[in-house]
Amino acid sequence: MLTRFAPSPTGDLHLGHAYSAVLAHDAARSAAGRFLIRIDDIDGSRSREEYVGASLADLAWLGIDWDGDPVRQSARLDHYAAALDTLRVRGLVYPCFCTRADIAASMSAPHGPAGAVYPGTCRNLPETDRERRIATEPHCWRLDMPRAVAEAGALAWEEAGRGLRVADPLAHGDIVLARKDAPASYHLASTLDDAAMGVTHIIRGADLIASTDVHRLLQALLALPTPLYRHHALVCGADGKRLAKRDAAASLASLRSTGIDGRALAADLAAGRLPAGYSLQNP
Ligand code: GLU
Repeated sequence: MLTRFAPSPTGDLHLGHAYSAVLAHDAARSAAGRFLIRIDDIDGSRSREEYVGASLADLAWLGIDWDGDPVRQSARLDHYAAALDTLRVRGLVYPCFCTRADIAASMSAPHGPAGAVYPGTCRNLPETDRERRIATEPHCWRLDMPRAVAEAGALAWEEAGRGLRVADPLAHGDIVLARKDAPASYHLASTLDDAAMGVTHIIRGADLIASTDVHRLLQALLALPTPLYRHHALVCGADGKRLAKRDAAASLASLRSTGIDGRALAADLAAGRLPAGYSLQNP
């Protein structure tokens, strides 16, 4: 068994991250498996080096140990570019020149599992237009979802303890695989890295279950193995809402400053016991 925890260094880790990291770590250790850390730092405008060190210190405080050095997404940009290239050659991605404002203005489109679905404006631009505009206009690369789904066929994944779950990538529309300001989207980078790292079990929050529709499709298109998944309940605050990086009181740094013991907290989280005022909820 090989599991991973993959923080984005865009803020302090909170109790929700701790819960996820503890579950992934303990699952690997109890199966004599391996546990890796990946730093999801491709978003250059939001990632901060200070959060990398702070996150690793928080994990160590919880008594979490990991195998090898943390993997950095920022060191793997060539792999993302190569995968995007293979999809481009197969006609499965297209350049999109729409601005946020363009997309907002044509929002007759339905909403998918992760928000608005791209209306497909740039999907069928003539090749000559594309070439001309690529040279001069900022653009992202989108997956031609209907085509990709037609090529991949019906897909499912195994959700731990809950059996097979049918993937519905079509509902997401033409998702972005490489952004104007980042060389790969979360979906592309994460799917490629999980495969390259040899992750066998992905243990992460239930807020990401819809993303797995897309990850399963990318695995099929890129001939990558499909891990087992466990999407766990989310840690919520007193207001019943899931924690966000702005909830300073729930940050591990602030819990630590109250003098509580990190290892004891990790043991409590592993047993599903949360500090007063927090609860686990299934969305
Ligand atoms: N960096 C992503 C996040 O923090 C990782 C999600 C995942 O585990 O796939 O949301």
